Amino acid sequence: MINSNIRNHFKALKSGKVYLDTAATSLTPDTVINKMAEYYNEYPSNVHRGNYAWGDVATEEYEGVRDKVRDWCNAHNYEVVFTSGATFSSNLIYYNLPNLGIKKSIISLNDHHANIVPYRLHNSNVEQIPIPDNGVFNEEELFKFGSLDAHILHISGVFNATGQILDIEKITHTAKELGGLVALDMSQHMSHDTLDADKINADFYYWSSHKHYGPTGTGILLIKKSIAEHMKPLIGGGAQVSNVTDNKTEFWGIPLKLEAGTPNIAGVIGTGASIDFMQKIGMDVIHAHTQNLLGIIIKELRERKIPIICDELPLEQRGGLVSFTIPGQHSYDVSVALGLRDIYVRSGKLCAHPVVNKLSDNGFIRVSVGINNNEVDIARFFDALDQVLING
Ligand code: PLP
Repeated sequence: MINSNIRNHFKALKSGKVYLDTAATSLTPDTVINKMAEYYNEYPSNVHRGNYAWGDVATEEYEGVRDKVRDWCNAHNYEVVFTSGATFSSNLIYYNLPNLGIKKSIISLNDHHANIVPYRLHNSNVEQIPIPDNGVFNEEELFKFGSLDAHILHISGVFNATGQILDIEKITHTAKELGGLVALDMSQHMSHDTLDADKINADFYYWSSHKHYGPTGTGILLIKKSIAEHMKPLIGGGAQVSNVTDNKTEFWGIPLKLEAGTPNIAGVIGTGASIDFMQKIGMDVIHAHTQNLLGIIIKELRERKIPIICDELPLEQRGGLVSFTIPGQHSYDVSVALGLRDIYVRSGKLCAHPVVNKLSDNGFIRVSVGINNNEVDIARFFDALDQVLING
């Protein structure tokens, strides 16, 4: 059971708002904010540069987060690279496909734009899996091409618009047997579920810290050690290089080679604090809590006969969120009316235009939950929704 004192860690809740948009960005607990303030107040220097005490502490704190991530995700076979977020990581992977001998990517149109737009930008050869009529993605579709030699599956562990959880262990295992690489976007997974990276054995995992109670502008990219040496930087500058002459550049190894320029030091240190925060509560406790709230929301929506996106998905295949539509009303109008009643949900096309356009003419209304939510929030949400349905 989650301790109700947890809510005291989120100062933003003192406003009285009901925040049901964790899938867009989670609230930041005071322990994360305090840890970042500690960096700025007590050892505010660059990393890997200053030969003085502040610089040493900053570097130690920053580098220590790599081990923290490895332990959290059982990612001992992986290099931990800090990026600006999931979007950058996805682009970095696409940019590197030729260096990895990849000739074709397989993606799903159910996915977030971060996994669709980059291949178009980088002109990669791709096979797009179409969206089924009911929106529920069939994992078998990924394997209808037979051999995956020189292919990469590039897909989310949880779709941000429909909330569907994919069986990433089975997908990765099958793709590996067929000779392909696998890149998993874990952005909608990390706030409420564990990841056993070594066991699942994908080649890449990536996500943004702000999805799991960490700061914005920071992301984690895990790269399988056996392929890391083939990765080239997408951007160039200081800190990634061991030697630069008038006409030659030598790079450090991974991860520094991929972290050009001054990194988001406070963001990385804050990411470490967000991992501590979740681990202290317990990932199993967080998972049980969010699933319980989600179950209540789905039940209440069904009682009101509100059309739920992918309603056939069982609760255990839903990752922290549920989307729905209100017939005859635009999702934007509903979310604005809820917002005026202090209930904050997401609406529109959710950075996943293909799937939202396929399943609704009016966008989705998406409710997503975190450890900062409780049953009172859900009751207040439904009170407000009932008023909106009656009064607009
Ligand atoms: N991938 C998924 C599945 C997401 O849900 C999101 C954000 O909504 C992203 C990628 C992009 O994350 P960011 O904007 O932090 O790069």
